[in-house]
Order: sequence, then structure tokens, then C-alpha cells
Amino acid sequence: MKIIDGKATATEIKSEIKSIVAKMIDEGKRPPHLAAILVGDDPASQTYVNSKAKTCQDVGFTSSLYRQEADVTEAELLKLIDFLNNDHEVDGFIVQLPLPKHISVQKVLNSVAPHKDVDGFHPVNVGRMLLGEPTYLPATPFGIMQLIERYGIETEGKNCVVLGRSNIVGTPMGVLLSRNASPGNCTVTLCHSRTQNLKAIAANADILIAAIGKPGFVTADMVKDNAVVIDVGIHRIPSDKTKSGFKLTGDVSYDEVASKCSYITPVPGGVGPMTIAGLLLNTLKAAQKEITY
Ligand code: NAP
Repeated sequence: MKIIDGKATATEIKSEIKSIVAKMIDEGKRPPHLAAILVGDDPASQTYVNSKAKTCQDVGFTSSLYRQEADVTEAELLKLIDFLNNDHEVDGFIVQLPLPKHISVQKVLNSVAPHKDVDGFHPVNVGRMLLGEPTYLPATPFGIMQLIERYGIETEGKNCVVLGRSNIVGTPMGVLLSRNASPGNCTVTLCHSRTQNLKAIAANADILIAAIGKPGFVTADMVKDNAVVIDVGIHRIPSDKTKSGFKLTGDVSYDEVASKCSYITPVPGGVGPMTIAGLLLNTLKAAQKEITY
């Protein structure tokens, strides 16, 4: 069994990006610029945004934060998005989710100009992903594809089961792994809360992607011998073994599943660090104007 080290791979990607940025600056270009909009004061969102800003700094990107009060109106938020869409100093930006209930998430995401949509959530970018055209892939699936590629995991002709069909993880994972590309060419089954015989379907997977948001859901009886298991889930659960009283765990019961796998991602240190790597790669692409619309 090999552990897929997302932390090390993300570090490798960040150092590659850092060299590219240094070269851009040598050539007299400005560094890539990622902006973030944060609405309200949700502590988790605050932590995510801070960590994205810190990582931007590490690789030499410029980052900026636009804070809005929780009672900002939808119209005011759309105005800010319009401003960033037209700011030539900003290459890409993200709107940190979740948003307060009085704001339509879809309306907001649809208002981000596709060429600045480094989260890959705009319908134009989702459509381009579906068609296999150049696009910004959503960060978590992008990060997972990077892991599969960089670890040389064979995907062609493999039976892949994705647990979860969210727009940001499960569905794009299914699309990317079934595409006629490398990595890709899997036969994909996408499971969700109405799937019947989910255990038996999972147990037939050569590659199992768990993205359902239920701690420890995937048990040893659901995993085929030598399967590749990618655990997207992230949960903070109580623990009497840590100083903080909490530990991070995934959607997979790692201790019982790991020994059956050919490859497995741990939590923490697996998919998590690759999500930010995916966002950085998208921002670099935006700065280099790699995609034309
Ligand atoms: P989500 O939007 O809540 O989607 C969960 C999916 O799982 C849904 O499609 C749901 O089915 C399905 N599901 C839930 N319970 C199920 C069950 N008992 N059996 C079968 N299917 C079930 O979650 P998400 O945003 O995709 O995130 C999934 C997990 O990944 C969460 O733990 C999240 O925190 C984590 N995550 C981690 C990262 C990272 O960077 N590591 C990034 C994103 C998400 P229905 O569609 O039928 O409701």
C-alpha cells in the first residue's frame, strides 16, 4: 500500500509555480493576482481565506481581500463582482462560500466573468469541462487529477466509483475520469443518496472516490483488494487523544481500509492541500491568459 502524499505534492506544485512567477517578474511582468470576496464573519470561511492569502504570498502572487458585512445586499455584492470583472490588475477571484441566505449563490457565481472564474464554478466553465475544452477546473477535482497523474495511477479502462454528486466535487470527478483523456477513460459510476446496493457497487471499484461528507462511511467491506481510494471528506470530530480535543478525519475508515488498497489518500494531508494547489494553478493560467473565450 502506498500513501498518496497530498501535502508533499502540493509543496512540489507550489515550488514549480514560484519559479514560474519569479521568471515572469524577471521578464518585467507583474505577478499573478488572486482576489477574494468574503461576506460576513464565519470563522471557517475566514480561516480558508486567510490560508489562501498566505499561500499566495508563499508563491509570489499578489492577493487581496474584499470584506463585506453579512447584511450586504445582493445588488451591492454584484456591483463588487462587476468591479473585479473589470479590474485589469486582478487575474482571477473567488467568492468564498457559503453566502448569507438572502443572496442567491447561483446568481453570484453566474456574475463572475468566466475568464476570472478561477474556482471553475461558472456555467460556461462547467460546460467547457464537459466538452473537454480548455477551462478552469473546480479546484478539488483538479487537485485530485493532479495526484492521479503525478503518482502515475493507471486509469484507462478502470472501473471508477464516485460517492457523491455535488457540483463542486462528485459530478466534476465523474466527468473528468470518464473523459477520453489521460488521466481518464474510466468507466464511471456516480453514486448518491438514492443509490441502491451502494456497498456492492463500491466494492467493485478499481478507483473509489469518497465525497459524501459522512465521517468513516467507507468501511473495509466496501473496498476491493488493491483499489485506489481517494478520500475527499474532511470532518472535525471529538477525540480524547489530541490536545485540542478534536481530530480531522475523512469519509473513509482509514485504519481498516488502508491495508487493502494499492494507493490511499490520508486525512489530513491528502486531498485538502491539493485544493489550494488547484486554485493556484488556475490563477497562474488566468495571469498567463492561457484560455481564450
Ligand atoms: P455535498 O454537497 O454535501 O454532497 C454530498 C453528496 O453525497 C451528495 O451528492 C449526496 O447525495 C451524497 N450522499 C450523502 N449521504 C449519502 C449516503 N448515505 N449515501 C450515498 N450518497 C450520499 O458535499 P461536497 O461539497 O461534495 O463535499 C463532500 C465532502 O468533501 C465533505 O466532507 C466536504 O467537507 C469535503 N470537501 C473537502 C474538500 C477538500 O479540499 N478536502 C473540498 C470540498 C469538499 P444527494 O445528492 O442525493 O443528496
